[in-house]
Amino acid sequence: MIRLRGVTKRFGDNAVLRGVDLDAKPGEFLVVLGPSGAGKSTLLRCMNRLAQADEGAMTVAGLDVAAGRRAAQVRELRRRVAMVFQHHHVVPRLSVVKNVLTGRLGAVSTWSSVLQLFRAADLELAMDCLERVGLAHKARDRTDSLSGGQMQRVGIARALAQRPQVILADEPVASLDPHTARRVLGDLRQACRALGITVVCNLHQVDYAREFGDRIVGLSQGRVLFDRLPDALSEDELNALYAGHAGHAG
Ligand code: ATP
Ligand code: MG
Repeated sequence: MIRLRGVTKRFGDNAVLRGVDLDAKPGEFLVVLGPSGAGKSTLLRCMNRLAQADEGAMTVAGLDVAAGRRAAQVRELRRRVAMVFQHHHVVPRLSVVKNVLTGRLGAVSTWSSVLQLFRAADLELAMDCLERVGLAHKARDRTDSLSGGQMQRVGIARALAQRPQVILADEPVASLDPHTARRVLGDLRQACRALGITVVCNLHQVDYAREFGDRIVGLSQGRVLFDRLPDALSEDELNALYAGHAGHAG
C-alpha cells in the first residue's frame, strides 16, 4: 500500500529527508516518531505531493507518486489519500455533516453549489463515518459549536468519508488533552482497521505510539533510525532518537 525507497528532499542546502525507506501494508497503522524538525511533516507532504521529493521511488495507494506529474494523476492521488491535520481544518460555519460531506468532493472549487449535488448514498456514508467517531448525534449542529476534540473527530470523519486507501495524519492529537487524544486515536485506528485503510500518523508522544501503532518508525534528521513493533522498541533506541532534543519526547 505504501512503499518508499531512498526518498530525499532538500530545501536549498537543508537536506530534510535523506534516503527514507518505508513500507506499510493495507490496514496497517504506522506511527512516525521523531524530534521537531526531523522531517515528519515533510515526509507526509511528499507522499501526497503537497511537496515534491527530489529523489527516490514512492508508491502510495497503488500510484507511482514520482510519476504523478500531470494534474489528473495528482488529483487521483489526493482522492486515494486523505489528510488529517493538527488544526482540524474544518469549516466552522457549516454543519457537522456538511463538513463530512466535503470529503466526498473530488476536484471542485466551490462547495455551496456542490452541496446540493450529493446523493442520499453520500449522506448515508457521511452518517456512517460520524457514527464511527461517535458524533452522529451532532450531525446537524454547527461545527463551531463543538469542542476541539469533537472538531478533530469531524476532520477524521471527513477523511473517512473520502473512502481513501491511505490516511496521512500529521500530529492529529497535538492540541488535545490525554483522555480526548486517546479517544481520537482509538476512533481513527478502529475505523481504519474496519475499512482497511492504511494510516501513517506523526506523533510526538511515545506513549500513544506504543498504544496505537502497529509499527513505530523513528525519524531523525531525515533518516529512519528504527522501524519496530511496539514491544520491540527499546529505551536506548528512543533515547538515541531524541538525543539533543530534550523536551520533545513527552
Ligand atoms: P515538527 O515535529 O516540529 O512538526 P517535523 O519533523 O514535522 O517537525 P518538518 O516540518 O518536516 O519537521 O521540517 C523539517 C525541516 O524542513 C525543518 O528544518 C524545516 O525548517 C524544513 N522545512 C520544512 N518545510 C519547509 C519549506 N517549505 N521551506 C523550507 N524549509 C522547510
Ligand atoms: Mg511536523
